[in-house]
Amino acid sequence: MTFIIKTDAERSPIWSRLFAEKMPEQPFALWRDDLAGEHVRFLATWVPPKDLATRFPKLEILFSTGAGVDQIDFSILPPGLRVVRMVEPGISGGMSEFVTLQVLALHRDLPTYRAQQAEGLWKAKRVWPASARRVGILGMGELGQSVLKTLQGFGFQLSAWSRSPREVEGVACFAGRESLPAFLSNLDILVCLIPLTPETRGILNKELFAMLPKGASLVNVGRGQHMVQEDLIAALDSGQLAHAMLDVTTPEPLPSDHPFWSHPKIWITPHIATMTQPETAAEHVMDTLRRYARGEALRGEVDRSKGY
Ligand code: NAP
Repeated sequence: MTFIIKTDAERSPIWSRLFAEKMPEQPFALWRDDLAGEHVRFLATWVPPKDLATRFPKLEILFSTGAGVDQIDFSILPPGLRVVRMVEPGISGGMSEFVTLQVLALHRDLPTYRAQQAEGLWKAKRVWPASARRVGILGMGELGQSVLKTLQGFGFQLSAWSRSPREVEGVACFAGRESLPAFLSNLDILVCLIPLTPETRGILNKELFAMLPKGASLVNVGRGQHMVQEDLIAALDSGQLAHAMLDVTTPEPLPSDHPFWSHPKIWITPHIATMTQPETAAEHVMDTLRRYARGEALRGEVDRSKGY
């Protein structure tokens, strides 16, 4: 019943130590390329190996080492294999910090002041209270709800969009494609925090940008493939969008000659909005293994039919 994790050199020893300390009865191993066999029942990795089904024929749970699962090719997984993603406070805390940073930067006009600095221009704009800004989140899952909670503390006018109806106090909630125009028509800042699925690929496109009020800004912390790149450039150049903060791009890393790098209305970060924190992620995995042994529902289990 071995659990195996494939992670980076910095985080591997932390996982080993935490399992040895807190779940010594659970056989544990770090990934090696020659590992295989029926004793492997639980695997945590970012991208599973192509020969997963034959290499680990008795695998019971595949853990994604991140919050997303779009990097997994579900067609190579045995049909009954359960997939669990990281739902842990390290990821949600990091995402809340980062989106708050970007929303505050837009709210307080930092892109304008960076541009003015390049020209040696000292020119103040009116400072508006947060309560005057309308911020909307595409996605009301683990991360979207964590971000909403943090933004509420500043007093922004908040709304959010999900697939199925949700209720969050103090947030105007919208659900389903038909409500997208109403959600978008009332925003100054749009944050993309939905998973990448066949339904959401390319959702950040010219039709969506046209539904936003002219001069709205965008923060993309979802996935690069949510964005139709030429539509973003056109919307920024026409003034339909004022600014875009991109933490995710296609491809990653973004090639140094890509037009996004030098666009005056785009700020880029290299997919660092948040990261899995081994200390809290190990707790999530150990809790999942214990729940699984007791036959209970698993937190963060992916609905394979929906792809997230
Ligand atoms: P989650 O808990 O699964 O929540 C996903 C949310 O998106 C849910 O509210 C879901 O609606 C909504 N959604 C999904 N498909 C939709 C559709 N077709 N139409 C409308 N709403 C839809 O996911 P999460 O943990 O919050 O993570 C979200 C994403 O963040 C991840 O998938 C990943 O791509 C991204 N991420 C980025 C970074 C980074 O560093 N940039 C780090 C971690 C994660 P329902 O509520 O109806 O299910």
